[in-house]
Amino acid sequence: MMGARTAKDATPVTRLEVGLGDRAYPIDIGAGLLRQAGALLAERLQGKQILIVTNAAVNALWGEPLRCSLAEAGFSVTTKEIPDGEAHKRIETVAALYDACVEARLHRTSAVVALGGGIVGDVAGFLAATYMRGIDFIQVPTTLLSQVDSSVGGKVGVNHREGKNLIGAFYQPKRVIIDTDTLSTLPDREVRAGYGEVIKTALLGDGDLFAFLETSGSDVLRLDAGALRHVVAACCRTKAAVVEQDEREAGLRAILNLGHTFGHALETLTSYQTYRHGEAVAVGLIAACRLAASVLGLPDKVTARVARLVEAAGLPTWFPPFPADAWRKALALDKKNRDDAVTFVLPEGIGQCRVLADVPLTEALAVIEAMTK
Ligand code: NAD
Ligand code: MG
Repeated sequence: MMGARTAKDATPVTRLEVGLGDRAYPIDIGAGLLRQAGALLAERLQGKQILIVTNAAVNALWGEPLRCSLAEAGFSVTTKEIPDGEAHKRIETVAALYDACVEARLHRTSAVVALGGGIVGDVAGFLAATYMRGIDFIQVPTTLLSQVDSSVGGKVGVNHREGKNLIGAFYQPKRVIIDTDTLSTLPDREVRAGYGEVIKTALLGDGDLFAFLETSGSDVLRLDAGALRHVVAACCRTKAAVVEQDEREAGLRAILNLGHTFGHALETLTSYQTYRHGEAVAVGLIAACRLAASVLGLPDKVTARVARLVEAAGLPTWFPPFPADAWRKALALDKKNRDDAVTFVLPEGIGQCRVLADVPLTEALAVIEAMTK
């Protein structure tokens, strides 16, 4: 699934492969890779026509180098911006993009390239999955969260006013091109939020990555190219390994939601206004450790190591006060749970976790109370 190669200009590039049979695809990770996008896509795409989906901010920063590279490789490119923000991850935005596809005369061998964060990726992927029953799709993620998480695995879709990600598909990209240089313009808060998902990935499946974060996490946060490439590759490798075993979330894929039951509850209680998703996940990881301590006997020193990483990244380590009843509702909301018990993904150690059904809600509420400031 993995390997390494050196690009022409000697920039180190790490290549991974997501092994999904006839839907297998490469992930390339390196600094300055945008300049090689044209050559990389020429290897993979059937046609010569591309629609870049992006937003105004990302387009202004990174649209030009991508378009240059694609033009050099002989692609004919149209760019369409979508409005920024989670509120626009909705079907109306996709509808406007269908119009753009028709206008640009995209056909069955054309491709959609997502240039942006997770929102652009999810929307563009859903467009690609449905336009003409599916055309080629390429991910060029530009946030840390999208580079370590959302660009790999094939979940695409949009929100409904009644719930996040209610409308969607499993639709794998043909290729993922990760240029870690694009993170140089990302607001620091977004970098740290993405880092919350990095800690999650390390805790659930990669003890070596966890140890690397303990010694070199500050290099990642200041966007050192080598540290970033190492960490992004490690996260993609773990996510790919999980997706290879459970593409459509029949079971194992649920472990990627470590920290998310607490995190989603916190996001719900604060109406998605106060915390970035990765921030809510970060404090959720500490809560998951404390819950694992009480129901699985996880040693306290594991919780302490996780809390140290979260704190060192400037991510939240405590919950704001809400009535127990509000927490109870928010925690049980997520899943098909009994009234008094919830399914949690819980760490069993650094780099290992398991799904535990029927964890008593009272145990989870006790953890929250102990972590409330
Ligand atoms: P985002 O897409 O909103 O990007 C965050 C902000 O950064 C935006 O304002 C964006 O315009 C800006 N931005 C992006 N790249 C930039 C750059 N290089 N320089 C400067 N600014 C830049 O947020 P996100 O955290 O990337 O993604 C969140 C979305 O991802 C959510 O909708 C979530 O549901 C989804 N998601 C999907 C999956 C999946 O498997 N499909 C997994 C996790 C999250
Ligand atoms: Mg997440």
